[in-house]
Amino acid sequence: MSKGIVSKEEDYSAWYNDLVIKADLAEYAPVKGCMIIKPYGYSIWEKMQAVLDGMFKETGHVNAYFPLFIPKSFFSKEASHVDGFAKECAVVTHYRLKNDGNGNIIVDEEAKLEEELIVRPTSETIIWNTYKGWIQSYRDLPILCNQWANVVRWEMRTRMFLRTTEFLWQEGHTAHATAEEAIAETEQMLEVYADFAENWLALPVVKGRKTPNERFAGALDTYCIEALMQDGKALQAGTSHFLGQNFAKAFDVKFTNKENVQDFVWATSWGVSTRMIGALIMAHSDDAGLVLPPKLAPIQVVVVPIYKHQEELDNISEYVKSLSKELKAKGISVKFDNRDTHRPGAKFAEYELKGVPLRVAIGSRDMQNGTVELARRDTKTKETTAQEGLADTIERLLEEIQQNIYQKALNFRVENTTEVDTYDDFKRILDEKPGFVSAHWDGTPETEQKIKDETKATIRCIPLNNKQEEGKCILTGKPSTQRVLFARAY
Ligand code: AMP
Repeated sequence: MSKGIVSKEEDYSAWYNDLVIKADLAEYAPVKGCMIIKPYGYSIWEKMQAVLDGMFKETGHVNAYFPLFIPKSFFSKEASHVDGFAKECAVVTHYRLKNDGNGNIIVDEEAKLEEELIVRPTSETIIWNTYKGWIQSYRDLPILCNQWANVVRWEMRTRMFLRTTEFLWQEGHTAHATAEEAIAETEQMLEVYADFAENWLALPVVKGRKTPNERFAGALDTYCIEALMQDGKALQAGTSHFLGQNFAKAFDVKFTNKENVQDFVWATSWGVSTRMIGALIMAHSDDAGLVLPPKLAPIQVVVVPIYKHQEELDNISEYVKSLSKELKAKGISVKFDNRDTHRPGAKFAEYELKGVPLRVAIGSRDMQNGTVELARRDTKTKETTAQEGLADTIERLLEEIQQNIYQKALNFRVENTTEVDTYDDFKRILDEKPGFVSAHWDGTPETEQKIKDETKATIRCIPLNNKQEEGKCILTGKPSTQRVLFARAY
């Protein structure tokens, strides 16, 4: 059994790392910034993938796959895109190694590539180079493709799941005949992400737009969902970009419209990554371990038998068999942990650490009384419950837990969102009560940068459906018409 984890209050960052490792989600890889996603962590990702993939297909998208390697010249075609990604690119320069004769393996200088290859940090360039061959007329539009892939961004400050050098994600890349249609797609995918975050991750999010400083390199507009972690830091959980005609112009992708006039194609791209696993952990978990929302938990119910003799175990097993059958028929995943190598107490601690939403313990007395002991991971409460109708009770409780986790995170966000009107209050709140700070800003990149330099807080987003309100910028005192959300962020 693993020892306890560092407490959240004591050191939030160490708590997080400890939890990732001890709950068996991932471990550090030999290359800095990379991670090995272990089976338990990967099964959460698989669940996320399955749900998102269904949502993408429901909204008319199809999956395709584009190459990992992108010719370097493709990047220089869209100026702001290359500017944004240049500092994080892994470059392949050679395609062979050789033995130097002294037993050392070295790069074979004769095997130098004529054109260097970039390991994709995102696929707009290779995809728009491809779309050029797919699109001639308005009849070829829209193209609604998604790709599930890995990407590499050579990040300097990494953290497991939240920011890794290589990460897994999906990237949607769509092509449209009009700006309106592309904007509608960008907004639709933001809604899909918000729906997924709130109803599956149990993570309340603020939907908004990024300021020009924080926009995706090459986008005209970046929409995002922002969530608040338990230490009061914000996390960007997903982005959806309106790319205008930038990539169509860079890759000369024109089409003949209905009026028989040539025009450039309009584009969007949108992505979420394995960062969402980090969001899950940081938003809900506690000092005993993970707290997983039932809808994404790889194991939703664990059953632990408590017995002394084989006969008692046989008796319990017989009951668990029929219970499991009923649960599986309801689509609930259940694990019967009848290992005789671990004591019940050790098993309880293990499943608590792994965030299994419900634990059923059954002893001989329970078998006589027709009861079980049911323990909830989210509230850590235990109650004796009738075996009769247990599958229904479990189904209801799983829904209740999903709701409860969401509500708890929402209450936290409400409590930790503060409106301020002066720069002094702004700085004080960031230190005393970290969270979202809602304040007026004069709309200039210079002011945003100065606030960031002085306080490390960035504008997380300009919330959608923001109410218009006269005010003064907290830094410059210049007039402003709406509040924006600031926070220190991951
Ligand atoms: P972007 O292409 O920059 O808009 O990012 C798309 C998605 O990937 C967003 O949801 C980001 O939060 C996420 N993301 C960006 N960089 C990383 C990283 N280094 N590790 C994990 N996720 C990332």
